[in-house]
Amino acid sequence: MFPPEEYIEYMHQKSNTNGMVSCLLGAHFSIAKGLHNALYEAKALKCNALQIFTQSASTWKQRILTQEEIELFEQAKIITGIKAIASHSSYLINLANYENKKHGMSLHALKQELIRSSMLGIPFVVLHPGSHMGKGEKQGINRIAESINDIFAKTPEIRSRLLLETVAGQGSSIGHTFEQLASILDLIENKEKMGICLDTCHIFAAGYDIRNIKSYKKTINLFDNIIGINNLYFIHLNDSKKDLGTRVDRHEHIGQGFIGIKAFECFMNDKRFKNIPKIIETPKENATCDYDKTNLNKLRAMVL
Ligand SMILES: [Zn+2]
Repeated sequence: MFPPEEYIEYMHQKSNTNGMVSCLLGAHFSIAKGLHNALYEAKALKCNALQIFTQSASTWKQRILTQEEIELFEQAKIITGIKAIASHSSYLINLANYENKKHGMSLHALKQELIRSSMLGIPFVVLHPGSHMGKGEKQGINRIAESINDIFAKTPEIRSRLLLETVAGQGSSIGHTFEQLASILDLIENKEKMGICLDTCHIFAAGYDIRNIKSYKKTINLFDNIIGINNLYFIHLNDSKKDLGTRVDRHEHIGQGFIGIKAFECFMNDKRFKNIPKIIETPKENATCDYDKTNLNKLRAMVL
């Protein structure tokens, strides 16, 4: 059931097209003009995958979907044919927060995000695992896993798969080592509802080198040995404004940061990742230049 059967069926069909699988590539799109318009914007840039926020990422107030929004989104999925969709959960959520009030707010916000995404038929919800705020890694990991177990136990209507994102390791954040993510997954009761989202900028800032074929292979092998590639469902392709191991999360245009072009060539051509949606979250700052188009074209041109 996770992700929804229609998504699995879609992936199966894609894999059977002359034995070739076209790459699932996209970007993070704004929902400022409505949830459904993100899909049309993605299609206009020839994307077949995308990520959105289902509401403002920096507010606790939970958005209630209207029937019309759900229908328009459903219609847009059919018209665009895009099914590889992830929703990124709010940055405010911290499942490792030891203050009960804030923790309760985080639980509620994530639960609502999972419910909204399920109603919209979005197969994946991406989450930054959380920060232990000085209480230590082990306690933080336990608190995150307990929180997720609690949500799934009390909310059977969730149909979206929850993906823990690899993070850069700023402050006391958890999820900057593959071991931490594996430890959380280990403690989850409903493993079939979970997975990982790998962010190239974050793993690089966290200290995992991917700048050449040798270091790429080493890092992906590590990921496979510790977490398992079978647990990987989504990839964020971002270059980094900060150097290896700085543990600072600043995204840069593809090929223009400290990671460089080689890593992205590796990701785009790695057969193990062919069916895994890849999206960019690179800067969009200049309204006169379509940076998404440039970055996406750069990635497409890398496919051998
Ligand atoms: Zn990311």
